Amino acid sequence: MVLPLFILFTFAQRMVVRLELKEIADGVLEREYRCQPEDFPVLGELAKAENVHFKGFVNFRLRLQKTGQIVEVDGTLTATAGMQCGRCLQPFEQPVKSDFALTFTPAMDEEEAAEEVELEADELGLIFYRGEVLELLDPLQEQVIMSIPIGPLCQTDCLGLCPECGCDLNVSRCDCEKRPFNNKFGALADLKIDKS
Ligand SMILES: [Zn+2]
Ligand SMILES: [Zn+2]
Repeated sequence: MVLPLFILFTFAQRMVVRLELKEIADGVLEREYRCQPEDFPVLGELAKAENVHFKGFVNFRLRLQKTGQIVEVDGTLTATAGMQCGRCLQPFEQPVKSDFALTFTPAMDEEEAAEEVELEADELGLIFYRGEVLELLDPLQEQVIMSIPIGPLCQTDCLGLCPECGCDLNVSRCDCEKRPFNNKFGALADLKIDKS
């Protein structure tokens, strides 16, 4: 039965990824979250700008450890990203997996001081929390974005497109053949003749 599942997912509420401090007893807490790409607003923008579409769920496995007021998180993200090959421009899917670590620490009281410190903290990978609640959605979204491969290739030895005629060299051959040096020198020779 596909239909009931479909309806369930369509009307599912936006994911709330939030933990109350008291849920993390001293010791270790393991949590798994199954998010939908729509839970992360930035992914919608990326889909438009970069042609990256996450397919299915974005899964997180988190291991949280609280020491005093500081919470350290070890996480693993797994998902499937649909991308466009940087060489042949064909769409392809690739599993994405990345490990990350986050450290939550309580925010300070004085707001101005806190802002400055927060900037520094950001560079150190620290995340400030206020009150008794850890908001995980934004930090997790950041991890999703960082997991996207840069310069993705459909296969490591993708042949790309012919620079002359634009045909996909993975699926067909053309008569252009590679004569880059001859062409370059030929063009240079022409240029010299034109100038003289
Ligand atoms: Zn390719
Ligand atoms: Zn060609």
